[in-house]
Parts: sequence; C-alpha cells; structure tokens
Amino acid sequence: MTTTIEGLVKRFGQTTALKKIDIEIQDGEFIAILGPSGCGKTTLLRLLAGFDSPTEGNIIIGEKQVSSKHVTLPPEKRNIGMVFQSFALWPHLNVRKHIEFPLIHHQYVPADIKGNTAKRVDEVMNIIDLTELSNRMPSELSGGQKQRVALGRAIAPKPELLLMDEPLSNLDAELRMEMRKEIQELHRLTNATIVYVTHDQGEALAMADRIVVMNKGEIEQISTPQEIYSRPTSPFVANFVGKANLVEGTWDSDHFTPAQYPDIQWPDLGVSMELKKKGIYPVRPEQLRLSEGEHGGIKGRITSVQYQGKEIHYTVQAGGKDWVVHTGILERFELGGEVGLELRVGVGVERGEGVVYS
Ligand code: ATP
Repeated sequence: MTTTIEGLVKRFGQTTALKKIDIEIQDGEFIAILGPSGCGKTTLLRLLAGFDSPTEGNIIIGEKQVSSKHVTLPPEKRNIGMVFQSFALWPHLNVRKHIEFPLIHHQYVPADIKGNTAKRVDEVMNIIDLTELSNRMPSELSGGQKQRVALGRAIAPKPELLLMDEPLSNLDAELRMEMRKEIQELHRLTNATIVYVTHDQGEALAMADRIVVMNKGEIEQISTPQEIYSRPTSPFVANFVGKANLVEGTWDSDHFTPAQYPDIQWPDLGVSMELKKKGIYPVRPEQLRLSEGEHGGIKGRITSVQYQGKEIHYTVQAGGKDWVVHTGILERFELGGEVGLELRVGVGVERGEGVVYS
C-alpha cells in the first residue's frame, strides 16, 4: 500500500515549516527524511502521525485520506506505529506487556493476530531478541534494550506505516552503529514501510532505500543513497551529504575548467556536458591529495588536522578558499605546513559523477 504526500504546506504564524512537499512512498519502502535542524523533518512526521493538521495539501495512507485542511484523523485512527528518540516506555509495564499492549488496545490489529495475541507477542519478542528478558521492567534495561522494546511495540500490530523520529540519537556511538543493523534486520524481517527522520547522513545512507533531503521546508532531492552521494543535484545536497568543496567554473564538453584555480590539473570527466556552460563542480574530500615540496597543485597551508582512526581530515587554506581534504593515515602532514593540493586521478572525478549547477 502506498502513502502519498501531496502539496503539503504547514505554516506556524509567520514561519512556513513545510513548503509544498510531495512524496510517494511505496509499500515496504524504507524512506529517510534527512536535513539540518529546523528544516521541517519533525513537522512532516507529526503531520503523517496526525498530531497536527496541514495548512494545505493531503496525506493518503493506503486508500484513506488521513490529512487535509478539512480532515485530520487522530493518531489512534491511523494504522501507524511510532518510535521516538525518548523511547517513551511505560515504567509500570514489563517488556512482554509492552509488546502485548497495542495488540489489545489498538484499533487496527489484523484479525489473525487479534485471535492469537500470545503467538504474535512471542514472534515479536523473538524479532527484537528479548525473549529472555520478558519479565524485566524498563528501569532494568539498557538503552539499546529499551529501544528494542519501543521498536517491538511499534511493529507488533503490523502497522501500514512505521514512523521513527531520530530513534538512535539517545544512544552512544557504538550502540547506534549496532542498532542500525538491527533496524535494517527488522525492516528485512517485517517488510514494514518506514519513514525515518534523522539529521545523521550516515544513518540515512546506511539504511534507507531512498533519502529525502530537506532544506528550509523544501525537498532538495529524493533518490537512492548512491545517487544522492554520487550525483547530488544541488550544492546543498553535495555539501550536506558527504561534504564537498564547491568549485565554480565552466564546462566544455567533458572538460571542466575552474574559474579560479589554474594550478589544478582537472582530468576529463567522461561525460558530455553542454558547451561553455557555467557551473559548480562538487569535489569530494577523498578526491583531493596533498603533497609536500616541489609538486604541482594549488599552494596552500594546513589550518586544521583531525585524526579519525582510519583517515585524517585536514582543512587546507589554498587559493582563497578552505578545502576539506580526507587522506589515509599513512600520509601525515603537520598543522601549519605548506602543501600542494591536487585532484587525485582515478577517484570520482573521471567517472563523470559531477553535476552542473548553474
Ligand atoms: P530538529 O532537527 O532541530 O528537530 P526539524 O527539521 O525537525 O528540526 P521542525 O521541528 O519541523 O524542524 O521545525 C521546522 C520549523 O518550524 C522551524 O523553523 C521551527 O522553529 C518551526 N516550528 C516547528 N513547530 C512550531 C510551532 N509549534 N510553532 C511555531 N513554529 C514551529
């Protein structure tokens, strides 16, 4: 069953939080809503859930119109499950009772489950891998276990749509990585349609079938993680997902000439662009290399060094611009050092993954 969001606008007084949003979500799809703070992610999720009504536009879940400026079905009248970053567990119910609760109290429980609640509870306890802790109270669980209970409670009645609002942001870094795998597994096992709000590009890239990148209440791009990363359609997307050094210049067939940096050797791109078209090329941090001494490239100075374990992140001031450069750990350069900045041959650029933004 598809979920359709059409022409959705939400205004709060002078603030327009959503400006005509259109998204068509396919049955079983995992959609991530990704964007910086204040871009309208939570507002969109609240409208999908029915906590709020739109100023304009419609939301149709399956066959049913659930939101418009005339109709707003409350959350309990929608066939949805929700997972919040705060877990929102009930302190007086044990794990098993949390999973059982929606099966007894929710309106939309499939008939086969309603007649056999205990079997479905067993199944879900198994999916979230908490069978052995079924009598524990929330206060006796770790953060990851609490989040698994919240996930189990949401999926138990097999909702048409599962909404998740930054569900991992209260967990520590290691557990977040672990829970990404668990949510992917849960999606695989249940084939639920998921709308997952996050400001973390890593989560969106790792888990989603498609990512909706939002900025200032508008959709910048909707596409698969691979497309979003390798063919961003706006400077905002290029910079928000994976970082990019935006270089202005001119395209001439498959050759790009930067306006400002004559010292950079720009390889041919292998894609034909319109002749003499002005545009911006997003250079990924891993597409750049640094060199010391008498090598080519733009001359620059290192203004920050961040060791990241498997790579090092540098900021290099060169040609009047701060460049973000990621290198392997074997290439070490000192803070304040003079370096040459070059494009790496064989990484990204020549594969024609650049996009013209006029
Ligand atoms: P964050 O990641 O920080 O939670 P977000 O992308 O979820 O941000 P929203 O909470 O949807 O952003 O807010 C979008 C815009 O709407 C912001 O400018 C916010 O200040 C505004 N806004 C949200 N709720 C209200 C409200 N109830 N009244 C007035 N303005 C609001």
